[in-house]
This record gives sequence, C-alpha cells and structure tokens, in this order.
Amino acid sequence: MTEAELVLTHVLNCDRLSLYLNKDVCLDRNKSVQVSAILKRRIIGEPLQYILGSTEFMGYEFKVDKRALIPRPETEILISSALEKLKSTGKTNQLKILDLGTGSGCIAVCLAKLLPQALIWATDVSWAALQLAKENADLHKVKVKFLWGDIFGALEKDQKEFDLIISNPPYIAKQEFCGLAKEIFFEPVLALEAGIDGTDFYRRIISQAAGYLKEDGFLILEMGLGQRSAIEDILRKSKNFKVIEIIKDYNNIERVMVAGRSKSEILNPKL
Ligand code: GLN
Repeated sequence: MTEAELVLTHVLNCDRLSLYLNKDVCLDRNKSVQVSAILKRRIIGEPLQYILGSTEFMGYEFKVDKRALIPRPETEILISSALEKLKSTGKTNQLKILDLGTGSGCIAVCLAKLLPQALIWATDVSWAALQLAKENADLHKVKVKFLWGDIFGALEKDQKEFDLIISNPPYIAKQEFCGLAKEIFFEPVLALEAGIDGTDFYRRIISQAAGYLKEDGFLILEMGLGQRSAIEDILRKSKNFKVIEIIKDYNNIERVMVAGRSKSEILNPKL
C-alpha cells in the first residue's frame, strides 16, 4: 500500500478495497483532525510505521515503535534463506535457533510461526526492545525465549549447539550516519551503528559463533551494501567458517551471507 492508503485505511479502519469502493465518502471533522496529526508527524520525518504503530513483515502484522528498528523487506530474504537452508538439511529433529539482536522480534517470531516445532532463543542488549519483541511474540501466540544481554553474553553456559544462528546486526559505518535520510534518526542508534566501517558486530559475532553452533549448523547474517568482502574476510580469518552462499536482494545487492562451520576448526567454546 502507498503511504496515503496506509494513513486512510488506518484512520477509517477499513481495508484498501473499501477505500476505493467508497471514494465519495468525506472525512468527518474528527477523522480529518486525525489525518492532519499524522501528516504533521510525517512531515518532520517520523517513519509512518512508528506513527501508525505497526508494519507488515512476512505477511504478519508487527507492532513497532521507537524501542526498536522497523523491520525491513530485505530481512524477509534473510528469513527465507534460513528456511531454505534448514529445509535442505532434511533434519526432522527439534531445531534450535538463536536470533541475535532481535529488536522488534520480527525474525524470531516469524521463524517461530513458520517452524512451530523449533526451539527459539532471541537476545537483545536493549531491555526496551526485548519488551516490544515479547509483545510481538504474544500477539502471534508463539513461544520464544527472550534473553537480555549483549550478543552471546545473554546466554547461559549450557545454551549452545544451535542448528542456526541468525542475525541482522547493526551495520552502518559511523561516518555514513550523517548522510542518511531523516527517517533513520527516529530509530534507535544502537540498532544501526556499528563502528568505523560498520563491521563491529560481524567481528564480534563471528569470533564467538562457532562455540554455539552444531558441527553442521548455519550462521546466516544480513549484510549492508558493499560489505560482502569485509565479512568474508572476517569469516576466513576466524578459520571457523566457510562461506556457503551469498544471496542478493530485490535491488540486486548482496544481502545475505550463509556460512557453515569449516571442518578444520578446533571447537572454540564460550570465550
Ligand atoms: N532483528 C531486528 C530486525 O531485523 C533488529 C535488527 C537490529 O536492531 N539491527 O529488524
């Protein structure tokens, strides 16, 4: 839907089709006031998803507000790649999945919806984001174990042997930040910024991930524009991972990195 359609369907509490079937209906005073209040916030750059309090992701409605990043369409590719990889293994046992930096919970909740037998853990360093993620899990009536803490720091010692570690980590370089659209500044900086070249979180995740993955487990990461070779480099230098696949997004940008454990590694438990 366009933004105008989203605003009107929200204020009139109707679907897109009824909007066009009732084209001649005039907005009453109360509804016009609501529309202008939304437009005033939108004009100064606040993302519409925050104003309306929700967004659609993977066909599900997610509650969103400034406690966490707004789920992006590219992240749907991250999820479908993960589903495809897990399917290709033909594993029928109860899969163990870990979502690092869950934010709104969009990845963990979608995986829980689509893989009802899986056991899913999700961590975030932001307490506020975790509360939003829990609200989304409740909204969709799924069970996800939410843990508060920085990346793997949130996990207990015995929480390892995951089949999949998935993450859409912050990946914007510090110097790029000022040049971004004004909408971005309404989102939590913690969810976006990742050091001088935007690779801080890849380094941190890759340096520890092998200790938490099964031998045949996958590490699947969303990447920023042009970050492929830097991330491949980090994976290669870790000696624990090999690149399995790179998946492009709708704009032909390399967006998802699928890695598996390399055979030669020495298991590197929690550092
Ligand atoms: N996992 C959440 C998402 O993909 C949050 C990501 C983040 O905060 N970097 O939207």
